[in-house]
Amino acid sequence: MSNFENVFVDLDGVIWLEGRPLEENVEALRSLLKKGLNVIVVTNNSTRSRRTYSFLLRKIGLDIDPVEVVTSSYSAAVYIREIEQNGVPVLPIGEAGLVEELSLQGHVILTMSEWKHAQYVAVGLDRKVSYEQVSAGIRAIRNNAKLVATNRDELLPTIEGPKLGAGGIVKMIEASSGVKAWVTTGKPSYILRDILLDLTGSLERSVFVGDKLATDARQAEIMGIPAVIVGKERYNIEPGSYTRDLFFANNLLELI
Ligand SMILES: [Mg+2]
Repeated sequence: MSNFENVFVDLDGVIWLEGRPLEENVEALRSLLKKGLNVIVVTNNSTRSRRTYSFLLRKIGLDIDPVEVVTSSYSAAVYIREIEQNGVPVLPIGEAGLVEELSLQGHVILTMSEWKHAQYVAVGLDRKVSYEQVSAGIRAIRNNAKLVATNRDELLPTIEGPKLGAGGIVKMIEASSGVKAWVTTGKPSYILRDILLDLTGSLERSVFVGDKLATDARQAEIMGIPAVIVGKERYNIEPGSYTRDLFFANNLLELI
């Protein structure tokens, strides 16, 4: 791992699981930070802001700035601003992290009763999502707002078992509005690739560390860099289904 310059690393299932640090991986990342590598956290989890994640990461001894955290909410907010060259009215369906990143990019945050003014509906994970909120999103889309999915993870893994993910909420809106999401801004996507390239200046000597093939290994493939998958996901791989270098490990400490 020390031969790389940039380490892009997933959050849930690599650094922690429902807030419980995964110690071997955290220890390995601490040592890579000490050696001067750029550690950039890349998460589809849209519920918290970059600022909050940086704060929580520092609490477990990982000195990572907010600018070194890229969430699917952040990439959605940046993408909309770049396309529109400005902040625009957005109806968010998501938690505080989505609202904060949209605000920081200058977008106007609409409440569900203001759906008529929406130019975009941005959807992330919302663990308190309501019938009325999803319906407001559907009305906005039918009124020509563009649907932006922060990510399409259909399930949220939890200690109690899988729960509804952001992708499931996106699918509800797509099914009932009859309109497919315009873009997905999280893993795997070219939008995210461009944001990560802007951040580092180069994707040479970079590696992507994650716990999911469909998101993390696919993102590495889009970026043309190798992937390290930690945990049990190796059992789900179909031979020949990935073109880039793909490595498996029980944890990151094995690779230090
Ligand atoms: Mg993960």
